[in-house]
Amino acid sequence: MERPGDNTVQTESRTNIFDFDRASLERFFEQELGEKKFRAHQVMKWIHHRYATDFNDMTDLGKALRAKLEERAVVRPPEVIYDKASADGTHKWLLGMDPRNAIETVYIPDKGRGTLCVSSQVGCALNCGFCSTATQGFNRNLSTAEVIGQVWVAAKHLGNVPHQQRRLTNVVMMGMGEPLANFDNVVRAMSIMRDDLGYGLANKRVTLSTAGMVPQIDRLGEASDVSLAVSLHAPFDELRSELMPINRKYPIAVLMDACVRYALRRKGTSVTFEYTLMKGVNDQPEHARGLVALMRDFDRRVQMKDAAKVNLIPFNPFPGTRFERPDEAAIRGFQKKLNDAGMIAPVRRTRGDDIDAACGQLKGQVMDRTRRSATFRKQVEARAAGGQRDASA
Ligand code: SF4
Repeated sequence: MERPGDNTVQTESRTNIFDFDRASLERFFEQELGEKKFRAHQVMKWIHHRYATDFNDMTDLGKALRAKLEERAVVRPPEVIYDKASADGTHKWLLGMDPRNAIETVYIPDKGRGTLCVSSQVGCALNCGFCSTATQGFNRNLSTAEVIGQVWVAAKHLGNVPHQQRRLTNVVMMGMGEPLANFDNVVRAMSIMRDDLGYGLANKRVTLSTAGMVPQIDRLGEASDVSLAVSLHAPFDELRSELMPINRKYPIAVLMDACVRYALRRKGTSVTFEYTLMKGVNDQPEHARGLVALMRDFDRRVQMKDAAKVNLIPFNPFPGTRFERPDEAAIRGFQKKLNDAGMIAPVRRTRGDDIDAACGQLKGQVMDRTRRSATFRKQVEARAAGGQRDASA
């Protein structure tokens, strides 16, 4: 039988129930335990609605079944290494995924909604030049249990009661990692987020954000029905390739074609394009004009006004970065150019920057299996040495 999460680290011979969505847990109960499907439903409710981790607390299961479960399975959430609360209500957790790796998860409350930013990998291999996560390199994909476990930890902490008292109303797969590079585990975890036996979130309240893995965008359109966000950050190929190496493989025209297909498949829904504003890099009038042209073309092809939504994100600096945040006037000026062209383009307010939880600042503990973290350190040292030479010249 297929075991979800087999492509990730297994530290325990017993199956972690967090690795199962409804369909795979039903199969586990029927095929491996010889039990009826509805028992799987009871267990899901205990875990995701009542935050139980001990089978002995699941009092509507018979004693024999509880003993059988104890022998074959565990309910193991990620370990909370620490959590920090920001003055603005944002909350961040550092969660241990194994003895050597940890990731970050952030909760952002805002006007009646509570959004959880969930990580999909330990680090990230895509190496976008403006991203804090990229400077840590990459270790591995998270299992389904490790993705949904982040939701469980936050929901439990918040006292979230699915279908009643919802403090967690939205999930964005926008934390550390490229979610489409960990396709099966992320899709399975998102199915638990949207399941009534899980967290009961509507499709439009679960958003997957990608740097632009084109074949997987098409796969996602077939496998799921969640909202799509795309990290665009530049309207021209030359600049985008410089900022995001993935653009060399899937240039803007190819990416936009995939976004059009995704939007057409989900008639009447929009795609969000994230645009991080970096001073003197992508915040000039020609960039605004290029962005408007791309978005207009998208609306025309999808045949829907405002099908393309743009989120402007002022760059959040992190130690060692060579990029800077534009000043407020430049941010407003860029936004005005989009507004004047008839586009709605909210500026995402920076939240949680006092605890380094703002967009693009997430950093866990990554046992880097690439050379990226070492290369980044060398670049920072070389820049610092250059600066010292300039200063002493
Ligand atoms: S921006 Fe996203 S895809 Fe790019 S390196 Fe950072 S985490 Fe990875």
